[in-house]
Amino acid sequence: MNGQADGVRTHCPYCSLQCGTVLRPDPGGAAPLAVAGWPEFPVSQGALCGKGQNAVDLLGPAGRLGTPLVRDGRGARLRPATWDEALGRVASGIRSAQRAYGRDAVGVFGGGGLTNEKAYLLGKFARVALRTSAIDYNGRFCMSSAAAAVNRAFGVDRGLPFPLADVAGTDCLLLVGANPADTMPPALRHLTRLADHGGRLIVVDPRRTRTAARADLHLRPLPGTDLALALGMLHIALAEGHVDEDFVAARTTGFEAVRATTTEYWPARVEGLTGVPAHRIRDAVRMFAQAPTGMVLTARGSEQHSKGTDTVHGWINLCLALGKAGRPYSGYGCLTGQGNGQGGREHGQKADQLPGYRSLSDPVAREHIARLWGVTPGELPGPGTSAYEMLDTAGTPDGVRALLVIGSNPVVSAPHADHVERRLRELDLLVVVDVVRSETAELADVVLPSAQWAEETGTLTNLEGRVILRRKAVEPPAQVRTDLEILSALAARLGRTEGFPADPRLVFDELRAASAGGRADYAGISYERITAENGVFWPCPADGHPGTPRLFLESFATPDGRARMVPVHHRPAAETTDERYPLHLITGRLPAHYQSGAQTRRVAASRAAAPEPYVEIHPATAARLGVADGEPVTVTSRRGTAVAPASLSTDIRPDVVFMPFHWPGPGRANTVTNPALDPVSRMPEFKVCAVRVAPVAAL
Ligand code: SF4
Repeated sequence: MNGQADGVRTHCPYCSLQCGTVLRPDPGGAAPLAVAGWPEFPVSQGALCGKGQNAVDLLGPAGRLGTPLVRDGRGARLRPATWDEALGRVASGIRSAQRAYGRDAVGVFGGGGLTNEKAYLLGKFARVALRTSAIDYNGRFCMSSAAAAVNRAFGVDRGLPFPLADVAGTDCLLLVGANPADTMPPALRHLTRLADHGGRLIVVDPRRTRTAARADLHLRPLPGTDLALALGMLHIALAEGHVDEDFVAARTTGFEAVRATTTEYWPARVEGLTGVPAHRIRDAVRMFAQAPTGMVLTARGSEQHSKGTDTVHGWINLCLALGKAGRPYSGYGCLTGQGNGQGGREHGQKADQLPGYRSLSDPVAREHIARLWGVTPGELPGPGTSAYEMLDTAGTPDGVRALLVIGSNPVVSAPHADHVERRLRELDLLVVVDVVRSETAELADVVLPSAQWAEETGTLTNLEGRVILRRKAVEPPAQVRTDLEILSALAARLGRTEGFPADPRLVFDELRAASAGGRADYAGISYERITAENGVFWPCPADGHPGTPRLFLESFATPDGRARMVPVHHRPAAETTDERYPLHLITGRLPAHYQSGAQTRRVAASRAAAPEPYVEIHPATAARLGVADGEPVTVTSRRGTAVAPASLSTDIRPDVVFMPFHWPGPGRANTVTNPALDPVSRMPEFKVCAVRVAPVAAL
């Protein structure tokens, strides 16, 4: 047990809160370990949601992969194989694809749940062992719009520029498209403390979620109009004299251009665009502007749009104009979703990045990383295409012909999922590395079983930028290997016997050196410091450096130290409603499940709590359509149809329906969603598309 007699202190395998857990042997249990909360870990303080409490179920043999699998040609079933055979198939498939079609014919699709060490080694594997530019990851589907906007506005992208506990100390919190009551329940303790000291909560969400139910003010805009709302709020703030002119003059640039664009968003027009009454918008502006301190936190509801980057700029502009950034208990932040959503985007598995959050197009960055990796800068590939674009063209003459998917399940989680599934079936070689036999693994030619959270050691970076350590508590099954061991073995098969260690500590030491001097600087962080300090905030550029819990208090990370205000304009969603498709579909998560559900659908407690998908519909809409509660309905967009029972609720707008996205098969919400991309972040428009709903009996 890792030398800790009272249990191994580690972290939940799921979301970006990374709640602290204590694992102890459970000889009589269905799983090898029992889990309890870790009271001293400051973010969660001993709390765990239901997913975290039951995560040890995944460690048992039921439902997980126990041996490599290979498929002997199209139409054949996956069959067990030795590691030697499976790795040999992967290596020969990669070689023949690159021989026939060039280096970029082999792609890598990573995941935001991979540890920092894995994300780092995966990026190096793609660029050094495969020498391909075709690498991206499912984090592109998560918070890439917020990351793009924050990088431009503040000069560095850290989800929260302050510890999560600071939320309790602000005077007004504006939550936009975020539902932590369902997605990360232990975070609610900070909202409770906020209310206890008289702080106000404004929630912007088309649904009355459990988070919205706690709000002092709930605004319910039409999906796809958050940017219009942010612009309308700034218009009112300007008109009513709430702008902090001194802050704007001293710490920002670009205000006059933003002021000019805002004139077009007068209250009556914004009411017409968003459906939010102008007096409610005015109430929100006054509540937020008159509070001495204030924060805006967004999540996927506001970000997963074809104008997601501009929308985040709209919220950032509001914070900056009101002087609510770069000060204690004030600022803009993004509630990252996946377990390593933050670290996963810093270490080189993004199509356009090198470790340390460096740009792949920056000659200085290329020189630094190339030297560390023992190659020339010219040998490093250039930027590749984004996640959806790689999936969209997979198996075609313009796309990858072989794909390595690691820690991701795009058959359920990608937009326009029918199309993605068809593309993956056309590949010459699909390799899936995963813990469970996911829906993507079902299509694979080779499946490699990997170890999971409590069976290996590695660092993650939580939503606050706090680097933490997941510790090994139990051995993986005999025929299961860690992702680092798999990458190391594959690199060796491809002729790279040096530079791909399987030991996470060695990889982390190399990552530290790679990140040194970069935007996400880990040079002073070690496993020992993380253990002693319950995590270390980056940037931490040297051994003696204390880490940086709060960013931007003195200056922003731009070359001149000032935040950039970026003029943006509202534009309609990529797909608007019409007579054939008269309703807006939004999607989201449920408390019992995590992302594509590949893991949690195998956990009995999660299955019992949320056994199947559903379609939330307002009773007035249901009555008009002739739909009864519990009756199966079709949800049809221009791309396909999903089928699930109706769940009638007055918590949703009459012109909107909602589906959770955790399931494959007929109830797969992403069959319907729109892959239209944000031009800056390449984020697909998961969060709004036009649909029609009908009773199944009416088909
Ligand atoms: Fe905490 Fe998230 Fe795990 Fe729940 S799923 S226990 S909120 S880390």
